[in-house]
Amino acid sequence: MLGLMQNHPLLISSLIDHAERHHGDGQIVSRRVEGDIHHSTWGQVASRARQVAHALDAAALPQASRVATLAWNGYRHLELYYGVSGSGRVLHTLNPRLHPEQLAWIVNHAEDSVVCFDTTFAPLVAAVHAKCPTVKLWVALCDADKLPDIAVPNLVSYEAWIGTQPRTYTWPMLDENAASSLCYTSGTTGNPKGVLYSHRSSVLHSFAATMPDALNLSARDSLLPVVPMFHVNAWGIPYAGAAVGCKLVFPGPAMDGKSIYELIEAEGVTMAAGVPTVWQMLLGHMQTAGLTFSTMKRTVIGGSACPPAMLSTFQDSYGVEVLHAWGMTEMSPLGTVCTLKNKQLALDANGQLKVRLKQGRAVYGVDMKIVDAEGAELPWDGKTFGDLLVRGPWIIDHYFKSDSSPLVDGWFPTGDVATIDADGFMQITDRSKDVIKSGGEWISSIDVENIAMAHPAVAMAACVGMPHPKWDERPIVVVVLKPGQDISREDLLAFYEGRIAKWQIPDDVVFVPAIPLGATGKMQKMSLRQQLKEYVLPGM
Ligand code: AMP
Repeated sequence: MLGLMQNHPLLISSLIDHAERHHGDGQIVSRRVEGDIHHSTWGQVASRARQVAHALDAAALPQASRVATLAWNGYRHLELYYGVSGSGRVLHTLNPRLHPEQLAWIVNHAEDSVVCFDTTFAPLVAAVHAKCPTVKLWVALCDADKLPDIAVPNLVSYEAWIGTQPRTYTWPMLDENAASSLCYTSGTTGNPKGVLYSHRSSVLHSFAATMPDALNLSARDSLLPVVPMFHVNAWGIPYAGAAVGCKLVFPGPAMDGKSIYELIEAEGVTMAAGVPTVWQMLLGHMQTAGLTFSTMKRTVIGGSACPPAMLSTFQDSYGVEVLHAWGMTEMSPLGTVCTLKNKQLALDANGQLKVRLKQGRAVYGVDMKIVDAEGAELPWDGKTFGDLLVRGPWIIDHYFKSDSSPLVDGWFPTGDVATIDADGFMQITDRSKDVIKSGGEWISSIDVENIAMAHPAVAMAACVGMPHPKWDERPIVVVVLKPGQDISREDLLAFYEGRIAKWQIPDDVVFVPAIPLGATGKMQKMSLRQQLKEYVLPGM
């Protein structure tokens, strides 16, 4: 017997319809590439998204065509999120920080028909357009009189393209399993792989993201996604924000500490989301200038492990609650968020900090387990670590245009190594390829990095394993010092004493001016290992 409830498909268009109807005057604020601060509303975004849908119809773009963006976080990008997916096309968010060759490869693999780009990326478009034969239209996200002077055929300004289109449109009643957006993984090895989200997966993910023990979003929030809209849909914030009708504040291209701080203060930001490297810049600016927050209450930190020193600084010096979160492009991305359970509120500050540093508990909808090399499930004791596997309705089944499934018995292997404690708090010990194998034991590169990062002279630290004839591998720590700071190799190694088991203390410290960062702000250990290929461990 079937239930007798209405069978409404879960569609992305329903999110913008809701935001417009119930939060039509809710603000959308954007720092633009033009340099100014632009003010829009959910109502205006909805109206202009419908113009986008008309413009795509006028271009005779069939359903499921890929419409790419090469853009910072901003209101026009948000309009495309809804106009493209809402009308049945697939929004493909390109990462502008990729190498042009890789970008062209992705455009061709996705068979993008249209590319909408911020004028900052005009030189990039000029460099790649000839290598992208599937693209029929290049849309510069600007006013008609600001069209960049580049020799690219079929180039139009966004405002001219949508400006004359009607503001009313009936969103199609799509199958909720239809593809809505496409995002390629960072691809540290081999070619990038496309993750194709559906309307259903995106809407369910939005419900989950807003929950109190997840991002705890409400209509009272002013939310700043520093995480780019070209990286896993800015962690789903453009969708979840519409579901609750919160104010959204977009940083555009200015991700430096000063610009982010000014935006937080000017727009009454209560909650911000980003990777640790971005927050490092913000905290650095605030510490140097002696600033405090007046409205900011919490921040979601994910993408890579949040160093303990950063968590303490946010909480103790600035009164900002840190929500440590973990996820992946393949997971839309939300998997776990670290919020305390009732019984943990009784712990002292240090006990609570230990819990908060974990990547957190599974959000309802995500199931997870850890397994050994043979695939046998491991205990949730907070000590035993193994390969982390996940499953759920917003987790990948297949990569785009790939016949083979990455799943193992219905579970997606994340490539992360983790522990899970009896309360269900998961802690990442490493990427499986970064873990250091020394004398048959594993050393967590994250642990080694976190200790170095806790030293006041250290700005950034990366731990890598170096080949060793006896121990297989030994860890070394590669360090970037804060400006004007100095510390010797011996002093930093002494700092590890008592903080980690003796055999886990790195064998050496290598000081460098910078650590290579990838397109999404994560440390690139592959390139770092490449840079260190002439390196020899002390005494060898
Ligand atoms: P991406 O698909 O580019 O978002 O990368 C996903 C990977 O980032 C995960 O598999 C983890 O290795 C890493 N990651 C994400 N969040 C965290 C976190 N909070 N702590 C440690 N690693 C993380």
